[in-house]
Amino acid sequence: MKILCIGRNYVKHIEELNNQVPSQPVIFSKPDSALLLKNKPFFIPDFANDFHHEVELVIKINRIGKNIAPQFAHRYYDEIALGIDFTARDLQAELKSKGLPWEKAKAFDGSAMLSPFVSKSKFAGIQNINFRLDKNNTTVQKGNTGHMIFPVDEIISHVSQYFTLKIGDLIYTGTPEGVGPVAINDRLKGYIEDELMFDFLVK
Ligand code: ZN
Repeated sequence: MKILCIGRNYVKHIEELNNQVPSQPVIFSKPDSALLLKNKPFFIPDFANDFHHEVELVIKINRIGKNIAPQFAHRYYDEIALGIDFTARDLQAELKSKGLPWEKAKAFDGSAMLSPFVSKSKFAGIQNINFRLDKNNTTVQKGNTGHMIFPVDEIISHVSQYFTLKIGDLIYTGTPEGVGPVAINDRLKGYIEDELMFDFLVK
């Protein structure tokens, strides 16, 4: 399976990092070795100094597809989850300034934290889902999928022009504002609506 991620998909997050609003989805990927499952702790790596949380809605692809039209994209996923796209922000800034790929800052072991999945049928619509991240019992990120620049079905259509989507592939759909650093002993809890999706420690 592969993990595709969308960058710069919420306007207020783009503003907080002083980036430009993109005309097409910004895409990067992570290998399967990046997955962090089952509320296992996130161990802060030693190759950078400023690791940020980015809480994101995650889509799981349930059938194979290429060149998927937006109006059919909803047939390609039944389940969603909440994840964190952990980012070595200082290393990413260095790579960006040199025009180099982001992988070392975005795709390292443990950088794709993922909750269990829930059926999308629990929600009225994919573009009206509230989610949030609490750090040490204070809410630090709060989003609604209605604020995405590129909605889920457009993302699926766009990425499938470049990458054949396969069963089990994951798409991280971008983070709202409020990204920030994590430190040892932080406790991170993520919610979709009022349902606790993950609860784990930073070590
Ligand atoms: Zn992200």
